[in-house]
Amino acid sequence: MLSFAFGTLAVLVLLAYFRAPVFVWSAAVAVMGATWATVLGFGAVTNFVLAAVFLAIAAAANLSALRRMLFSDPLLSIYRRLLPDMSQTEKEAIEAGTVWWDADLFSGRPDWERLLHTPTPRLSAEEQAFLDGPVDEACAMANDWEITHKHYDLPPQLWQFLKDKGFFGMIIPKKYGGLGFSALGHSAVVMKLSSRSNALAVTVMVPNSLGPAELLLHYGTEEQKNHYLPRLARGLEIPCFALTSPEAGSDAASIPDFGVVCKGTWQGKETLGMRLTWDKRYITLGPVASLLGLAFRLYDPERLLGGKEDLGITCALIQTNTPGVNIGRRHLPLNAVFQNGPNSGNEVFVPLDWIIGGREYAGKGWKMLMNCLAAGRSISLPTSSVGGTKALTRVTGAYARVRSQFRTPIGKLEGVEEALGRIAANAYMMEATRVMTAGAVDLGEKPSVISAIAKYHMTERARDCVNDSMDIHGGKGICLGPNNWVGRGYQVVPVAITVEGANILTRTLIIFGQGAIRCHPYVLREMRAAKELKGEEASREFDDALTSHIGHTLSNGVRAVVHGLTRSMFASAPLSAAPETRHYYRHVTRLSAAFAFLADVSMLAMGGALKRKEKISGRLGDVLSMMYLVSATLKHYEDQGRLKADLPLVRWAVRDARYSAQQAIDQVLSNFPVKSLATLLRWTLFPLGMPFRPPLDSRNHECASIALEPGAARDRLTAGIYLPQGEADATGVLETAFLATVACEPIERKFREAVKSGALQQRGGADSALLAREQGVITPEEYAQWQKKEALRKRVILVDDFPQDFGRAESMEKLGESRPVHAKAA
Ligand SMILES: Cc1cc2nc3c(=O)[nH]c(=O)nc-3n(C[C@H](O)[C@H](O)[C@H](O)COP(=O)(O)OP(=O)(O)OC[C@H]3O[C@@H](n4cnc5c(N)ncnc54)[C@H](O)[C@@H]3O)c2cc1C
Repeated sequence: MLSFAFGTLAVLVLLAYFRAPVFVWSAAVAVMGATWATVLGFGAVTNFVLAAVFLAIAAAANLSALRRMLFSDPLLSIYRRLLPDMSQTEKEAIEAGTVWWDADLFSGRPDWERLLHTPTPRLSAEEQAFLDGPVDEACAMANDWEITHKHYDLPPQLWQFLKDKGFFGMIIPKKYGGLGFSALGHSAVVMKLSSRSNALAVTVMVPNSLGPAELLLHYGTEEQKNHYLPRLARGLEIPCFALTSPEAGSDAASIPDFGVVCKGTWQGKETLGMRLTWDKRYITLGPVASLLGLAFRLYDPERLLGGKEDLGITCALIQTNTPGVNIGRRHLPLNAVFQNGPNSGNEVFVPLDWIIGGREYAGKGWKMLMNCLAAGRSISLPTSSVGGTKALTRVTGAYARVRSQFRTPIGKLEGVEEALGRIAANAYMMEATRVMTAGAVDLGEKPSVISAIAKYHMTERARDCVNDSMDIHGGKGICLGPNNWVGRGYQVVPVAITVEGANILTRTLIIFGQGAIRCHPYVLREMRAAKELKGEEASREFDDALTSHIGHTLSNGVRAVVHGLTRSMFASAPLSAAPETRHYYRHVTRLSAAFAFLADVSMLAMGGALKRKEKISGRLGDVLSMMYLVSATLKHYEDQGRLKADLPLVRWAVRDARYSAQQAIDQVLSNFPVKSLATLLRWTLFPLGMPFRPPLDSRNHECASIALEPGAARDRLTAGIYLPQGEADATGVLETAFLATVACEPIERKFREAVKSGALQQRGGADSALLAREQGVITPEEYAQWQKKEALRKRVILVDDFPQDFGRAESMEKLGESRPVHAKAA
């Protein structure tokens, strides 16, 4: 009897696990029910009643019309009442872009083979030549200290170089005179530039991100494209895009800036146009822009366009020399000194043709912006964060080897090693994410949720890494000057956190909020059925989505328990993956099932209120994000040819993310509003307790060693950044000192051993070396080598000092008088 009960349970689990269709469930239940009835010896009446009940339920479950009448339609009515109304802008934001690997992770059953067979993203020969040529040259021309402290801008010759070489037209196709680079190529350029100078990278990033060029490419009229794209590609126009205003930052759809459709005189002729009034701030490249992409709300009170009065958000291109445009003053964003400032206009008349896409696109601006956001957001800030972090990895490892305290290179002191190992492993994971995300864009995706994940997590990891790096550098990182290679990065990191969707909002509102609707296989269909469809069509669509949804949830719940009880043993992992990483795939499959189940139960338990429960949805977003980062890391390991030397980085990064995902689930459960459900969920998701542990210290040691050791692994980890040649540059000196330090270690070991054995008297640094040479412990050549290293080391540990007035008079003159922003507009 007991084994029969187990057998029944096993069949039910298998049916749920493999998501058997309803008719298979019905058949299986019929057979098992009949067998149980025989075994238990029920009487004829009982058998008849049970059979009737079963047949009624099976008919309702299998016959669509009956099921809809008894089950789906009543639920649809309740759902319609409960589902909060969505504004048009919210709807357009949620529906924008595409879903990709995020949808697999949301499904509970990621198709790993599909991911691993996605082609490895590669740079073209032309892109590589551009990186080795003009990009290197631009980096060499950028002296970050002079840019940030002396010029407060890129030097004029660098501006010109960027324009001449086409840096502002990387996303513009060749037929318009642009470079026509792939997303990966574009990203590789931004990465290298950002490893050198933030102002340089941002100046190049902005025209290639969401702005006039991107909008024109997708929505511009032929005339607009033919006129502007070649000019933008050649740097004859400097673009900016102005959305943010003092009253509308994160809530950008609420911009108060407006235009009124009217007739006016333009170049001597009566023209149908708009009178624009706006007050924008924080606009990157604004102060030097010749072409202002402007977002505003357009009204047509006289119905001159024949439609509604409130047409909605509209995007237009405004020549900044148009009378009435106020532009040119600057903000000073954390000493990053890229051009950024306010601009405004009061009743500025421009022709209607200046709307991007022409009058047909009046009122469609928000949709246009949302649809174009993902590509730029996938590249700019994630990539610049990777460039900065790779550069940090290289310099921090080198400095930690050159700088000694307590007669030990500080990188070998465990406390420092812990921070350094984190930087190195993060750099690996970030690079993996950069490449996979850019690869998705090159496959034609506009990954809205993934771009938010990449933006949030790359910028946050860059912030963690720069904090670690600052700690490792000690005072050397604090005293600014040309010999400080980390301080400016530390200063500017909050810029990346704030722009293109401030991070708190991105994490708590977008990643899960948008993901739950877009990536979930059924939620959007249910919502559409409830809100957009009517009658029979709504009923059928809702029924189909709902029944599939129930099967999906049940299956993921059962899978989560099974994976939990079997420690992921049966969770799917790709056979084509390296054996040494295959268990990590299984763990993500388990997490994916657990996450999908938890997401469904959370939506069911909290409904629309989940949107306001940002602490919960932020953590759910973290789980999705960690699975994405792990997927990227594992794919990167495969794409790079399973290099064993990189395995510690993979292991640390995966263990760390896996543990973070588990902790995020734990926190969701601890704060779940329905306590009984939380307990049930905990039993389901962690039936044997929480399985994942943080990375081991030994792995952290291996990761730090990669940053501390010259060689292929370090070069690979920091590949694609700018490496200054020679000793004219502080980081060039650092690299030479690093190599010299490593080369001199055997020499130092010789005189340390001589001191230990008593052959050499204990003295300090230079005296010991001299004595060692005099006593023949080291050769004269070794002594010369050691002296050279010492000279380099001294240069590395040096920090800058300045005259007492810091050249105050000069810099005050340069900054000019500060005034409250928009005093003029007021
Ligand atoms: C250097 C720099 C360059 C920029 N460049 C441009 C540009 O070129 N063009 C342009 O149009 N704009 C630009 N911006 C504007 C940028 O996109 C905004 O700063 C950003 O949208 C945030 O707006 P805010 O600064 O007013 O912050 P606020 O909107 O006031 O937000 C403050 C805090 O509240 C959080 N928050 C807000 N709403 C929510 C929510 N619902 N849930 C949770 N948290 C929330 C935010 O995450 C943030 O942490 C730039 C900004 C800076 C600083």
